[in-house]
Amino acid sequence: MTRPIQAIVHPAALVNNLLVARQAVPAAKIMAVVKANGYGHGLLRVARALEESDGFAVLSVEEAVRLREAGFTQPILLLEGVFESGELSVVSELGLCIVVHSVEQIEMLRRGWSPVKLSVFLKLNTGMHRLGFAPDAFRSALAALQACAIVGQITLMTHFATADEALGVSDQLARFNTLTQGLTFPRTLANSAACLRYPETQGDWVRLGIMLYGASPFATQRAADIGLEPAMSLVSEIISVQNVKLGEQVGYGGTYRAERDMRIGIVACGYADGYPRHAETGTPILVMGQRTRTLGRVSMDMLAVDLGEIPDAGVGSPVTLWGVGLPVEEVARATGTISYELLCARAERVLVIED
Ligand SMILES: *Cc1c(COP(=O)(O)O)cnc(C)c1O
Repeated sequence: MTRPIQAIVHPAALVNNLLVARQAVPAAKIMAVVKANGYGHGLLRVARALEESDGFAVLSVEEAVRLREAGFTQPILLLEGVFESGELSVVSELGLCIVVHSVEQIEMLRRGWSPVKLSVFLKLNTGMHRLGFAPDAFRSALAALQACAIVGQITLMTHFATADEALGVSDQLARFNTLTQGLTFPRTLANSAACLRYPETQGDWVRLGIMLYGASPFATQRAADIGLEPAMSLVSEIISVQNVKLGEQVGYGGTYRAERDMRIGIVACGYADGYPRHAETGTPILVMGQRTRTLGRVSMDMLAVDLGEIPDAGVGSPVTLWGVGLPVEEVARATGTISYELLCARAERVLVIED
């Protein structure tokens, strides 16, 4: 028998979540962000489910090649642009769109040759201070791009640092609007959080990741309340049952000691599967659909759960680490991280199937 851990991807949820996005920003085109192997769901699997999206955003030329080879004809944006001038030939050949965030990249375009004009997304740093041109460098960057023979369509782009938090987007949005006033280029500003909370940021393109995968970008609002459905369930089974006596330890380091005589289940899932090792005793988990808690430290290939309230559970009982019935955001919160990290961390050895 094979190890029972699996990531079940729910294509219908991806389709539903795309519809939720369409209703939130009906005037914008939707770029499905499928970087990091489709946030751990599988690049092509996600792209197929989201084939109705107007474009895709990825990080590397390799991902873009896979999408084109699979037959996707939508615009594909390289979110960090090219890393070296040698990539421009593939960009040209496959008709990719590229972010331009630095003078070095403008220089590559100035020296580059392409039989077709390239579509570029000029990135403005409006306050995130990660990638992009500072406000005082923006106009000269724009002029330099317009002077490049191989540059065709220009789209203006920025990225929000706090769209999912109380701080919101107002400062960055105001800066973007001031800087780009009077310019008629298409615009793209919003990620999932901005799309849902600040529809005034929708522009011509929205760049959506986490919400398409069915997780809420907000700490204070649940995905289900927004109409989102989880696109991945990480499931496994109980492979052993232990009866431990009051005071006996469970797992490495003996960080958990039984508070009474109890039945515990050992689940085939560990940190080598992408489950966070720093999940402490009490992290929520489902056994036979019932909510219980993890016990002690997560091992490389296993973790322990409390079966005290689930007497029917035994070897072979189904376990949900996150997904349908247990939002990944909840597990993320309990383990001091965000849903993005848990989804992306799904290990190669975890088989992905579609329901
Ligand atoms: C990853 C990414 C997104 C998607 O963000 P979500 O919060 O997952 O919607 C949007 N824009 C850029 C530039 C990104 O890198």
